[in-house]
Amino acid sequence: MSEKHFETQAVRIASSKTNQREHSSPIFMTSSFTFDSAEEARQMFAEEIPGNIYSRYANPNSTDLIEKVCAVEGTEDGIATGSGMAAMFATMASILEQGDHILASRALFGSTHQLLTGIFPKWGISSTYGDISDIANWEKLLQPNTKMIFIETPSNPGLEIIDLEWIAAFAKAHNLILAVDNCFATPYLQQPAKWGADLVAHSATKYIDGQGRVLGGLILGKEELIQKVRYFTRHTGPSISPFNAWILSRSMETLAVRMERHCENALKVATYFENNPHLESVKYPFLKSHPQYELAKKQMRLGGGIITLTLKGGIERAKRFIDQLELITVTANLGDTRSIITHPASTTHSKLTEEERERVGILPGLIRVSTGLEHPDDIIGDIERALEKSK
Ligand SMILES: *Cc1c(COP(=O)(O)O)cnc(C)c1O
Repeated sequence: MSEKHFETQAVRIASSKTNQREHSSPIFMTSSFTFDSAEEARQMFAEEIPGNIYSRYANPNSTDLIEKVCAVEGTEDGIATGSGMAAMFATMASILEQGDHILASRALFGSTHQLLTGIFPKWGISSTYGDISDIANWEKLLQPNTKMIFIETPSNPGLEIIDLEWIAAFAKAHNLILAVDNCFATPYLQQPAKWGADLVAHSATKYIDGQGRVLGGLILGKEELIQKVRYFTRHTGPSISPFNAWILSRSMETLAVRMERHCENALKVATYFENNPHLESVKYPFLKSHPQYELAKKQMRLGGGIITLTLKGGIERAKRFIDQLELITVTANLGDTRSIITHPASTTHSKLTEEERERVGILPGLIRVSTGLEHPDDIIGDIERALEKSK
């Protein structure tokens, strides 16, 4: 169905029907699959013929999810995993060897930062961070053993944008594998593979699920690279459960509709609070005041569901503000139907020093808002009231 639109593919791609002729895909809660003969078993194990063997390798529900996401990301092949972090780990661990080096954007998801600084060094895989604001100088950060570039765009929570076309050309010129965590944008807003990324990884837990229910991850890309990832995941076992894959495949059907509304609400909220006297700044990729507005417009369909508000009055004010919210939830997720607020300086990024936080744009008063699907006036009302009451 490659010639069909995003929405059609996300709704219509489905694994083959069983002999029950069901319209909606069933959940295949089975750990293994049967063979008609000893010879068929031999052929499937030898990968001479396709077919399911064991759910750690593949299952109709994970295949269904992968086919949908590959179609809309424009990638050849993919693997689904039990969480986003399993996907990030497999993306790197399946490709890299002892002695290799990763060049990564500094503003990374917290656990990805732990992988690079706390886990990979145990196996002799090193990394260097580059600042997005200084990307023209990334060439100087390359080492003879650099093998992979790993980035997130937009960054969390700074909402800085990396030029995907530029970074893909840079990776190609230096014979490096470019891997992109596309969780914030989702395949609906941005398709890194179309700009030349070799691997695209997702936490499906966020917008792909979209309702705060299940964990899941995806690794997508060129077939030759995915073969390496498949070997790694088959034998290390970060498999997704058939149930979670089924939920996520159903969720893909509504991703386009949900993202349209998440982005519409986020733009309304961001626009409303621009120039608010309680705020030092409001950041949103599709606000003209965003320093990379033109770039965001070039590579993203819409601005995404995440906004940052920097409150005057630092950490204490930010905490008072959060305690005054009545509608918006304080929780460590994002991409939910329900609006969520996070205070990175005291939670997700509290282990960094203030200077490290500042380098990735996390000021003490910065609040991350994951704009949900409530009526935008109610989201605005809750924030406005909490700003007044936290003075
Ligand atoms: C949440 C998140 C992850 C990790 O995903 P899990 O599903 O929680 O394991 C990785 N990258 C980004 C950008 C995320 O937001």
